[in-house]
Amino acid sequence: MFSFGASKIIQQAANPVTQTAVPDDHFLKIHFLVVGGSLAGYASALSLCRAGHSVTVLDVEDKVETAWGNYGASVSPNLYRLLVQWEMVDELRKHGTKANRMHIVDYYTGESLGFHNWEEELLRDSGGDLVYCQLVDLKKMLLDKAVFYGAEIRHDVEVSGISVQKGSRPSARLTSGEVIEADVILGADGPKSVIRWQVIGQELNETPLGTALFNVCVPSEKMREDPELAALLEAAHTTTIWTGKGYAAYTFTAGGEFTCYMYLPGTGTEDHWYQYIEPAALSKLMAPCVPVLQRLVEAANSISCFPLCEPPQVEPWVHPEGRVVLVGDAAHPFPRASTLGPAMNVGDAGMLGVLFSHLHFDSQIDTFLTAFETLRRDRTKKVLPIELTNVYHIIMPDGEQRQRRDAALRERRDAGLDVFTGSDDDLAVTLWENDKFVFSYDVEEAAEEWWNDWGILDERANDAVRLAAVQIPIVQIAKQVERPL
Ligand SMILES: Cc1cc2nc3c(=O)[nH]c(=O)nc-3n(C[C@H](O)[C@H](O)[C@H](O)COP(=O)(O)OP(=O)(O)OC[C@H]3O[C@@H](n4cnc5c(N)ncnc54)[C@H](O)[C@@H]3O)c2cc1C
Repeated sequence: MFSFGASKIIQQAANPVTQTAVPDDHFLKIHFLVVGGSLAGYASALSLCRAGHSVTVLDVEDKVETAWGNYGASVSPNLYRLLVQWEMVDELRKHGTKANRMHIVDYYTGESLGFHNWEEELLRDSGGDLVYCQLVDLKKMLLDKAVFYGAEIRHDVEVSGISVQKGSRPSARLTSGEVIEADVILGADGPKSVIRWQVIGQELNETPLGTALFNVCVPSEKMREDPELAALLEAAHTTTIWTGKGYAAYTFTAGGEFTCYMYLPGTGTEDHWYQYIEPAALSKLMAPCVPVLQRLVEAANSISCFPLCEPPQVEPWVHPEGRVVLVGDAAHPFPRASTLGPAMNVGDAGMLGVLFSHLHFDSQIDTFLTAFETLRRDRTKKVLPIELTNVYHIIMPDGEQRQRRDAALRERRDAGLDVFTGSDDDLAVTLWENDKFVFSYDVEEAAEEWWNDWGILDERANDAVRLAAVQIPIVQIAKQVERPL
């Protein structure tokens, strides 16, 4: 049994819970304990409560804001569709900025290398829009919806470890001394996960890739003071990629605020890694770029610097001894400022929700956790290289490949075409095809497919065992009745 100690329960459903998935008569309702209240944790709480389970989320922070300040996050069409399925369209409209097109610009001269308009067809097929919002708003949207569906959220609670033993319920220890038991524990505690350490038994390190990433937040009121910056702000539905040789900037409006991800060669930036950096210091490192980019950075109110890294491979995600599973960045860390990462983190929740909406037997819990790991690991293996290739594409060093790419972009620009559309198999087109592959994926559909192909067979096997257990006494009684007295 779990008890509530001194920590605050700051959010709990005030209204009766609306369940979209109506549990059937044999539905087995269980309790999930989620360690970590952020994208993966809140989304999992939402999705599992929606499926009919009870969920408690614990987070060490006493507020929703991120430790590293505000930054923009992309809600790719596949994530957008999932959020719409979770009835969050109004929140998306309120906090998001829709991106209609991409503008490719030369980092040094400001020459426009062309536009690419998001194809109607792609958006129609994927059933969603591409939207940018502040990461903190995305977290808050998920938190509010999780609470609406009945999740219990406890902030200011630090988990120090877990206890896992085959055959018994896992439990989490808090630094306050409290112990909380659950049927399943989700480790949604991010890339430095405490739970992960206990699942895999070792520390994992990311591998720096030789590029530094600067996360630049620029207040819109400052941008309005400079006509060129104001023009960037006004083109709110355009994402701009400023591409240089080893240098790049990715700029967009996210819910009214302006974000710039700046990529620079890593050598010489090491002293700034994992720290904030002054705008003037970054401005110096960026030279020689088009002056408007330097002015953009100088208007920033917060800049953090990280090495761009290849994340480590985490294996396994499910604790070998029991019902503890990693989700989000704890399971599959993505590079910071990743454009495909939020959909991966929230997508985990979509998969868990659908799988566990079919829970009828205790023994299915292990099957579902294994299925979750297999399906999501496979997805990560496909999406992570696409993310890294996208970044490589914009920071591509000088050389033949870059010259060919720029020539192809200019040719399509001069022909009045969308720059990523074409019959050639050049890199730009390949990237676009990759993005389509990511955007058209429906995680809930994939989970249902698994259920129809495999899960239901397992359920029938379980059902047969259950029926056999019920039938044995009846058969025995019948035999006894048949036996002459
Ligand atoms: C500096 C930085 C910049 C980034 N920039 C961007 C960006 O611009 N755009 C973007 O989309 N993504 C960005 N990311 C990545 C993004 O933040 C993550 O991909 C995303 O938040 C991962 O979600 P998550 O829920 O898996 O984990 P996290 O967001 O890492 O959340 C983990 C949660 O667990 C809690 N926690 C940790 N340990 C414990 C414990 N022991 N007990 C209780 N609670 C605990 C933490 O407080 C936290 O709330 C950035 C990340 C960083 C660090």
